[in-house]
This record gives sequence, structure tokens and C-alpha cells, in this order.
Amino acid sequence: MEYQLIRSERRKTIGLQVKNAQVIVRAPTFVKTSYVESLIQAKLQWLNQKIAEQQQNSLVNPSFSEQFTRENTKQQPSVFIDGLPHRIIVSFGSPNVIHDPLEQSLTVIINKRYHALGLHCDITVSKIKSQIERWFKVSIENYLVNHLAIFSNKMSLHASSVKVRKYKSRWGSCNSRAELSFNYLLKMLPTWVVDYVIVHELCHIEHMNHSTKFWQLVAIYCPEYKNAKIWMHKNQPNLKWS
Ligand SMILES: [Zn+2]
Repeated sequence: MEYQLIRSERRKTIGLQVKNAQVIVRAPTFVKTSYVESLIQAKLQWLNQKIAEQQQNSLVNPSFSEQFTRENTKQQPSVFIDGLPHRIIVSFGSPNVIHDPLEQSLTVIINKRYHALGLHCDITVSKIKSQIERWFKVSIENYLVNHLAIFSNKMSLHASSVKVRKYKSRWGSCNSRAELSFNYLLKMLPTWVVDYVIVHELCHIEHMNHSTKFWQLVAIYCPEYKNAKIWMHKNQPNLKWS
């Protein structure tokens, strides 16, 4: 079995992990490689099962890049916008992104020089991705600013500053100085779910925790909050942006 071994002086124990269908072993520097291999042998069944699960999962729910880089795929690449799947149409010309909500499509026009590289090339894919990201940011920024103002007035809770940027694993944040940040990938979510995220972060100005009082306050301004959380959980595989 192939694996990646990461040794560290600070580590005290051995850790086995399967990530993106790859085995990663973290071990203290003093542990012998032969011991690591015997451990892998002992856990072989579990490891193989994990790998198979993750391979299956990435087949059913490929990430953004996987949709392009996997050749001879029958599925057309797609992306969630406003909570709905949109097919991605790539063409070459003067760079632009055109959203057609009725057709549920997103046309990404990239510079002609990428034509020779083809759609399966990493460089082309990252170009398509960055153009969509810029479009996400511009499209969601307006919505966030407007709706933040509406909810702030209703709730009498005001942010000291607002940032919109990319986060890997969170939709929004609020610190003790009432500085709010939002993930521009929120453009993938339905607006009623985005409203929940806005209310959630504003409520943190009052309660810097997830206590009962916090959720009571959320419920007043976003009675749909439980459904919003369910939507986010259910659609997690569709929101993979890597
Ligand atoms: Zn929170």
C-alpha cells in the first residue's frame, strides 16, 4: 500500500488518516519505518474501505477542478448559484462571465490564449475558477451590503466593518470588535440561506457564543434558521470549491 509519511519531532503518537483517497501517516521521528508498515498491515482492511468510500464520493460529487480534469467524463461541469445547479459553458474571447438564471447556465469567457491548452489543463481550469470567483465576489457583495443594512436596522446591531473574501471552511465570522467577514462563496447558496448567515453573524455582536440565548435571538429575525442549517448540511457535497 502506498502512503505518505510525515515525521515530526513534536509528535508523541502515530496518526493514520485517509484524505482524498490517499493514506497519510504522521509519526514521531523516533518511530521505525518497519513499525509504521506493520501498523498499516494491521489496519489494511479499514484503510482500503476508507479509500474506496472516498473514491466513490469524489466520483458522485466531484470538486470543481475534478469536473474538468477528469477526461472523457459524460457529465457537464456545473456549479451551484443561488442554491441551484448551473451548467458551465466555457468559451474563448474577451474575458467575461454571463449568468443566465432562466437557463441555469454560467458562461465563462476566457482569453483566447488558453484555447491551445484545452479545457482539461490545470492552468485553464484555474483561470476559469478565478474568473468565477471574481464574479461571485462582485455579485454577492451588493446583496450582503444591502441585506446587512436591512437586518442591522431591524435588530439594532451594527457591524464596525464588513469584509467579503474567500474562506476555506466558514461562511462568515464576527469578532469581539464587531468586525464581520463573509465568504463570497455564499453566492452558491439560496438568498434565504444567505440571510440566515447574515443574521447569525449579527447575533454574535450581542452573544459571542452559540448559547440558547444566541439561538433565541437568531430565531426572532430568522424563523427559517433550522431549515437553512439543514439546507447547508444537505448540500455540502454540491458546495465543494476546490
Ligand atoms: Zn456562530
